[in-house]
Amino acid sequence: MKKIVRAAQARRINPVRIACINKAETDLGVPLARLTAALQKCYDKYFLPVWGYPVKLYNTRKAKPSDWQFIYFDNADQAGALGYHDLTEKGQPISKIFVKTTLDDNQLVSVTACHELFEMVIDPIANLWAQATNRTEYAYEMCDPVEEDTFKVDGIEMSNFVHPSWFEPFKHPPGTKFDHLGRLKKPFSMTKGGYVIIRRNGRVKEEFGSPAKAKRFAKEDRRGHRSEFRKSRGLHIRLKKGQKPRTA
Ligand SMILES: [Zn+2]
Repeated sequence: MKKIVRAAQARRINPVRIACINKAETDLGVPLARLTAALQKCYDKYFLPVWGYPVKLYNTRKAKPSDWQFIYFDNADQAGALGYHDLTEKGQPISKIFVKTTLDDNQLVSVTACHELFEMVIDPIANLWAQATNRTEYAYEMCDPVEEDTFKVDGIEMSNFVHPSWFEPFKHPPGTKFDHLGRLKKPFSMTKGGYVIIRRNGRVKEEFGSPAKAKRFAKEDRRGHRSEFRKSRGLHIRLKKGQKPRTA
């Protein structure tokens, strides 16, 4: 896997510098400077103390070779995707945020951006799994289990995210936080709008936080989703609603 070998250079610079580039013509809903500043503030204040990888977001037109990339486009280049992360040809992690696709799906660009930022930093090529039992592993995704829960930073909506404790299958002391907003009470649980990707006996599938979420998810286009791409390449996508699933 050439891409994985190249990824060895990905965290050489500390803090990782993330070039934010707006290639979308569609209005983001908030100026890029404000959005990037809110993402950085959210990251530093809430995500960094818990997950521990410092990053520096900055707005530019062209990324430097050592930069990770965070790019806003109008339309998805993967059917059904609001955003996803992958690696560039040079082996640097890249997140793509699809602005028009996100807005057409009645979702906020800032929430998709926040979701991708958190998940890209921790698991850039979506190859990490946490073992829950002998048979079951959970994908290392920070936002999926709580992906419809948001909170504001400087007036801009951000995505809730799970804590490392969420991936630890033992009994935690009372009061342990499993997600930023404190909605979850145990490892591997979800809020009603959440979902998880699990691998059981080698098979990858999704489970949902509620029947309503399962229904919304069933309408999504599953092409390009981690559970699909996992078989060929590392990629994790925040999906739009309203299309037919491709996998079970
Ligand atoms: Zn995700």
